[in-house]
Amino acid sequence: MVIVGGGLLGIELAASLREINVESTVIQRTSRLMNRQLDPLGSQLLQEELADKGVDVYYNDEIERFLGTAAITGIKLKSGLTIHCTTVVIAIGTTPNIEIARESGLECKRGVVVNDYLQTNDPSVFAIGEIAEFKGSLYGITAAAEQQAEIVARYMNGDIAQFYQGSLLMNILKIHGTDLCSLGEVECPDDPAYEEVVFIDKAKRYYKKCIIHNDRLIGAILIGDKNEFLEYRSLIENCIELSEKRLQLLRSGKAAEPVIGKLVCSCNNVGEGNLLNKIQEGCKDHLQLCQLSGAGMGCGSCRPEVKAILEKTLELSPVENKEPRQISA
Ligand SMILES: Cc1cc2nc3c(=O)[nH]c(=O)nc-3n(C[C@H](O)[C@H](O)[C@H](O)COP(=O)(O)OP(=O)(O)OC[C@H]3O[C@@H](n4cnc5c(N)ncnc54)[C@H](O)[C@@H]3O)c2cc1C
Repeated sequence: MVIVGGGLLGIELAASLREINVESTVIQRTSRLMNRQLDPLGSQLLQEELADKGVDVYYNDEIERFLGTAAITGIKLKSGLTIHCTTVVIAIGTTPNIEIARESGLECKRGVVVNDYLQTNDPSVFAIGEIAEFKGSLYGITAAAEQQAEIVARYMNGDIAQFYQGSLLMNILKIHGTDLCSLGEVECPDDPAYEEVVFIDKAKRYYKKCIIHNDRLIGAILIGDKNEFLEYRSLIENCIELSEKRLQLLRSGKAAEPVIGKLVCSCNNVGEGNLLNKIQEGCKDHLQLCQLSGAGMGCGSCRPEVKAILEKTLELSPVENKEPRQISA
């Protein structure tokens, strides 16, 4: 199978196909993978990881022609190379459908332009999620859509004190056996006010890079171990001053809690058993359960499942006076 696009989704698909022994080839227009979410070294380590899994990647190339008549038999690339295949998946990003909004007279650029309350130029019309363009940015992640929805809900209930200030861009690559994520800024600007803290073990494909501005973490890349994702997310989102904790925060390598039972959150590797343990320890609140376990704190798509597990467990057994459950992996 040929996958066009070496972004998050293209890479996740290519690696998943290799797991079920399907040959997969990625065609990437630029000279490196995940060029929007990683720096060059991060892309190189990811390339090595994919090569180990048997994924072929062609860089600086594009499809010129599809081959075949009744069905696809291959593709011809601009470089002249021909690749035989029976399926092509295009994973080159999404573009919001703004035609209706534009025809209705709403201000549109790449998306529907919104202000700090997610209001369009018509104050009775709001836009959130994939379609909303805030200060030139289209976020394209569920966390941003949720944060925007909260601001609109508050505004409609009369709370104008809270306003949208943009969302932290974060990406977690969901490939079995590969830990990779990035948050916020991934390249250090050429400015003495910015600092870079880097740890690297090329042979083990371990790479950790933190970008600091005015003693605050503003971005990170974690490869080989993403246990610090939640902590870094909180440091960045809450603009926490690192001060004397700087070394401890940036140099600690925490041991991951093993996944217990069925995997629920593939962003932060949390199993059903990990959630049940937290509930048995006394956690009864959905958001608190997410924060304590890490489930639902990445892309957020497993939050309904976390909620269902919490509700079912609380319904079946009131948690008071119970010892933590032992569940085997
Ligand atoms: C394959 C894939 C994987 C992703 N993985 C992640 C991830 O791991 N982490 C992450 O944070 N984000 C991820 N995203 C992005 C995430 O899904 C989006 O940011 C999120 O869905 C945005 O929500 P939304 O409601 O704005 O848009 P959508 O979820 O796209 O929903 C828009 C809905 O509106 C409907 N619609 C469109 N036009 C009209 C119309 N004229 N009238 C009525 N209905 C209409 C559409 O049919 C659709 O149902 C992924 C996206 C894709 C495609």
